[in-house]
Amino acid sequence: MSGMTTDIELVNKDGIRIDGRTAEEMRPLRIEAGVLNNADGSAYLEWGKNKVLCAVYGPRECHPRHMQNPTKAIVQCKYNMLSFSVSDRKRPGPDRRSIEISKIISEALEYVIFTENYPRASIDVYIEVLQANAGTRCAGLTAASVALADAGIPMKDLVPAVAIGKADGHIVLDLNKEEDNFGNADLPIAMIPRTGEVLLMQMDGHMTMEEFNTALEYGKKACEKVYEIQKDALKRKYSIQSEDTEEPEPTADEDHNEEGDE
Ligand code: UDP
Repeated sequence: MSGMTTDIELVNKDGIRIDGRTAEEMRPLRIEAGVLNNADGSAYLEWGKNKVLCAVYGPRECHPRHMQNPTKAIVQCKYNMLSFSVSDRKRPGPDRRSIEISKIISEALEYVIFTENYPRASIDVYIEVLQANAGTRCAGLTAASVALADAGIPMKDLVPAVAIGKADGHIVLDLNKEEDNFGNADLPIAMIPRTGEVLLMQMDGHMTMEEFNTALEYGKKACEKVYEIQKDALKRKYSIQSEDTEEPEPTADEDHNEEGDE
């Protein structure tokens, strides 16, 4: 959210946004768990035009050793946007924004992981944004908790996240790039639906108290939806695997006998 003024009409008189969505409509979200063989856990996510890949390594011995915590594991997230992920080439390597996003995602994940189970260890979470269209921190965090679960790392719960914002004075769910750039406010949140605990909340721009409450209400409902999609990704991964490892169907005795008789 840059607060830039523009002539673009973000929400029309019927309350429809430039990508055809209503105020409380989320972009389509698809998550696949366990997409990388070399990582301990992984996830691939597409959320509208966002495409995000996440790999988890660990728990493994933390290096350099002076970063080890003798009482618990540390969670180190590296959020990175690839240079071709946006229309204006992104300069490769870390910058202020990616360092900030890595920090807030690490902190949100640290809250749910049972880090005390793994003293002196590091849990490394790599988030690569292949294509960006606003909401990538939420997309990254959503993918990361699925990848952590895929890695078998004990956690209190999955962490669904979504951004709510304000465009043309309307509270809108799951901002797209134009709404993020030219809107009035951006409020990314992560919330555990089961407990209502908020693990991430940032605010760029301005909202009245009433608008903020509406935004939270939209965000809460959206996090519930995202949570179901996260669970579904894990169920699909592991139900397919268990089918694969099932014993092959025994051939019918009759068939066998017939063959033997021939
Ligand atoms: N963006 C960009 N170039 C950059 C950083 C961001 O074009 O160097 C775009 C990208 O589409 C991103 C959006 O701006 O998703 C909004 O960025 P923001 O910092 O609000 O984080 P996000 O909404 O992705 O969590």
